[in-house]
Amino acid sequence: MFTTQGLFAKGDGGGRRTLLRNSSFLRSRRTQGLKGRGGHREGERVRGPMGLRTLSTKAGRQTTLGDRATVAGIGVHTGLPVTLTLHPAEAGTGVTFVRCGVDGRPELEIHANARSVSATELATVLGDGTGPGISTIEHIMATLCGLGVDNAIVELDGPEAPIMDGSAARFVEAVDRAGIVRLAARRRFTKVLKPVRVIKDEALGELRPYEHGFRVDVEIDFDHPLIGRQEFGLDVEPASFRREIARARTFGFMRDVGRLWSSGYALGASLENTLVLSEDRVVNPEGLRFADEFVRHKVLDAVGDLSLAGAPILGAYRSVRGGHQLNHAVLCALIADPTAWTVVEAPAPRVRAHADVAAGLVAPAYGAEVS
Ligand SMILES: [Zn+2]
Repeated sequence: MFTTQGLFAKGDGGGRRTLLRNSSFLRSRRTQGLKGRGGHREGERVRGPMGLRTLSTKAGRQTTLGDRATVAGIGVHTGLPVTLTLHPAEAGTGVTFVRCGVDGRPELEIHANARSVSATELATVLGDGTGPGISTIEHIMATLCGLGVDNAIVELDGPEAPIMDGSAARFVEAVDRAGIVRLAARRRFTKVLKPVRVIKDEALGELRPYEHGFRVDVEIDFDHPLIGRQEFGLDVEPASFRREIARARTFGFMRDVGRLWSSGYALGASLENTLVLSEDRVVNPEGLRFADEFVRHKVLDAVGDLSLAGAPILGAYRSVRGGHQLNHAVLCALIADPTAWTVVEAPAPRVRAHADVAAGLVAPAYGAEVS
């Protein structure tokens, strides 16, 4: 069954669910994910650990994970050890974060959407106003969005997602271990109907209608000899996400370290998880993974931040000199204007001839508007 939970359906009262009482989350913890219940009750595995088949993010049916997968590391800001476990979730769940206490009991549950964002200064933080939230969610969110996972429970045993190597690579590996399964419910999208723009000082961000799926273009301009002005853009699809974006690491400047530390940030930052720049060079001995790794990482962040629309965006995003704050502001501006977007549902899957399958993916023909 599909619900509008997680979408900004007009008049939707909020994002919290009752997973802690009810849920596929607890069921998933007791079993081994969907597989543990005697095979794929509803799902059909579309990608195994080898990632041989690419599932279009524009495909018609919702997806979730085929199994659980865990990654462990430290938070880049808190410096605290944390374990993150991805769980399968039912259609219509979207992405929900569950933070568990030291006793393993769930103590905070937050649906990942723009209304749940409580801070965007140095990372994107979800919170419900009752206490510490869940920080630095953008890379795991980008991974789920980029690989086309609609529904998942993200369980954490600390207040911040692990930074791993500073990129989304370890999260991509985790999703590959879990596999992705299709569910019966049709996918819904947040379709941009008209341009929405936010300008703040020298930063500019905008979302525009785009007929070919979800596109992100980012331009950065840093007064640093190794960065300067860089541009990168792509249509966000699992294959392009993996190849171009997922491995780009977060970066920081030596000159900022003292100030960050004294404000209680970046306590876990190191050369293991951050590309560090001195005045004239990359400090990390291994150097850059891409010549323009900086702007690629900004694209990764934007994909994660915009995935908080609650349903995958059909539209093109462009940011100039932006960051988490701008990404969030543009998403909020979109949501605030009910004439600027609508929810569309993917057309019902049709029986495909072998020729269609061989040719790859069916061209999207987005269905009737359902909002
Ligand atoms: Zn980032």
